[in-house]
Amino acid sequence: MSVQGQAILKPGREKAIQNMHPWIFSGAIDESRSKLSDVEPGGIIDVRDSRGGFLARGYYNLRSQIRVRVLTWDQNEALAPAWWRVRIAQSIRAREPLEAQGDTSAYRLVYAESDGLPGLVVDKYNDHLVVQFLTLGVDMVKQTIVDALVGLLKPAGIYERSDVDVRQKEGLQDSAGVLYGEAPPDPITINEFGVKYPVDVYTGHKTGFYLDQKDSRRWLLTNPAVRGADVLNAFSYTGSFGVCAALNGAESVINIDSSEPALEAALQAMSMNGLSTKAEYINVDVFDQLRQYRDDEQSFDVIVLDPPKFAHNTSQVEAACRGYKDINLLAFELLRPGGYLLTFSCSGLVEADLFQKVVFGASVDAEQQAQIIGWLNQPSDHPVLLTFPEGRYLKGLVCRTTAF
Ligand code: SAH
Repeated sequence: MSVQGQAILKPGREKAIQNMHPWIFSGAIDESRSKLSDVEPGGIIDVRDSRGGFLARGYYNLRSQIRVRVLTWDQNEALAPAWWRVRIAQSIRAREPLEAQGDTSAYRLVYAESDGLPGLVVDKYNDHLVVQFLTLGVDMVKQTIVDALVGLLKPAGIYERSDVDVRQKEGLQDSAGVLYGEAPPDPITINEFGVKYPVDVYTGHKTGFYLDQKDSRRWLLTNPAVRGADVLNAFSYTGSFGVCAALNGAESVINIDSSEPALEAALQAMSMNGLSTKAEYINVDVFDQLRQYRDDEQSFDVIVLDPPKFAHNTSQVEAACRGYKDINLLAFELLRPGGYLLTFSCSGLVEADLFQKVVFGASVDAEQQAQIIGWLNQPSDHPVLLTFPEGRYLKGLVCRTTAF
């Protein structure tokens, strides 16, 4: 695509872009000196400093507060279809060690900004790909991206799941459907560490499965602490943590989720793995159910709290922290001595230190002394660019209550 215009930055606003951060916000652009009136929405522009020097090239969207997402800092790179193919190939190549390990048939091939491809997510589920075009800039080159993926991977099919709220900020409607090849099976049965999971890529959360919780699933699948344990899996979705715990010899598993289809899939996942572990599937609000357990003086050996994103913008961070505090306090009250709490936050705006402080506050109020014995994070297929720390969102603490 040819360069259609240029954005001139205000003096002193070039630092982030020189440090290779890929976003340019509306406030950094000197509108009066920029040439943007002929740029079609999502078109390619150059970004220049206040003296006219070249800084970067990317796609432009007047509808978004993030006006430009940078694709290259090299003036010689023309953003033609071949460029997209090379960049996607680099992202796929970076997953070769993961593929070679051979322990999973599903993982993320492209993680947007973190892989130098702002707005694009590509997940692999066996032979099928599920893609999300989160911004106008990548939506415009959808066919180029599909052609590149077909050429590089020869998938059985490519399915689009661009039905996400963030598209509204870009002036885009939801979009979903087959983009290439066969429609994916419903469900697709993936295999991770020898465990089978049914994945509904049509209506499941994200692209169908929480691929980002792979390391936490492994913890539950392999940690001896789980053997013989009564496990409470709160915000269970399709029960993957419960399946891992059951396979690892848990005595009982309770899955709680507000989604009935998710709990049905959880039941299916248990039987698919030949499990007859004592299990419950409770379709209620976690906050209410934890209070109920406290009032009933029920207790557990292992509790997992993996709530949805509580903070979607900075104004919600405080309320999000109150939510985290509430559930973690209840969880600490429900833990037996020497019990384990695996507690997560997937709100990128709640940073790791803040989250740890909230969990600390919850333990104090619950009068429960606890040790952090491990940290769980998004896995290697969800990398964090040093120049784009916003790519980090998932944080987990493994806490053990102590006897002293
Ligand atoms: N641990 C899961 C992912 C959890 S996602 C996994 O690894 O697969 C968060 C889940 O919380 C969603 O399934 C959503 O349906 C559920 N949820 C959101 N708010 C809830 C609430 N207040 N009570 C119960 N479940 C809730």
